[in-house]
Amino acid sequence: MIILFIILGISPLFLIIASVNIGWNFYIRSFNKSLRSGNEVMLTFDDGPHPGNTEKVLDILAQSNTKAIFFLIGERAIEHPEIVRRIVKEGHLAGIHSMRHTAGFTVAPAKMVTGDLDACRKILEDLSGEKIYLFRPPFGVTNFNIAKAVRKLNLKTIGWSVRSFDTAIKSPEKVIDRVAGRIHPGAIVLLHDRLPESAEILSGILREIKNRGLKPTIFKEIYD
Ligand SMILES: [Zn+2]
Repeated sequence: MIILFIILGISPLFLIIASVNIGWNFYIRSFNKSLRSGNEVMLTFDDGPHPGNTEKVLDILAQSNTKAIFFLIGERAIEHPEIVRRIVKEGHLAGIHSMRHTAGFTVAPAKMVTGDLDACRKILEDLSGEKIYLFRPPFGVTNFNIAKAVRKLNLKTIGWSVRSFDTAIKSPEKVIDRVAGRIHPGAIVLLHDRLPESAEILSGILREIKNRGLKPTIFKEIYD
């Protein structure tokens, strides 16, 4: 058993697999689900702001009086500041999702990662007027350099327990079924607000959440 751990511990394959499995908490201790949520679940949206699609998601959230977290891309936030302001004004939280969401981010040295996340944070703080401290790694990839940047900037990393695969599965109904089949009390659901189908998917998921007696909200642990 010990030998197995040593082999796993030094295996490059293990390090790679760990880097694409945020839930393993190998590089970064991320918040992936709530253990004290009661019947609450939390919805998160990545890759915005996206003009046209993010607003439709915001409309649905407003209609159902639901608050969520939006992990925003810095360069998109600069291009669409009015959407960032609307997100925050309507009671949602904004978080960091890197400046550009490039594959290069996942192999960048720690200093570059730190600079990138700090720049994204400053943009979101300037636009929102709020303190920004939440972070979701692009592609969900973590590694030693990203971990170093997160420590340095004192960010809270948010993972997920239910992945919708909404960017990969073409049918909104299948995405809704997938999430409905996996949702649980304390779940953090990973969604995207940049798709033309995002609002439709959200509507379906809210319906399924309600049918199961669950309540979508922002967990208290986020503010701890
Ligand atoms: Zn993303």
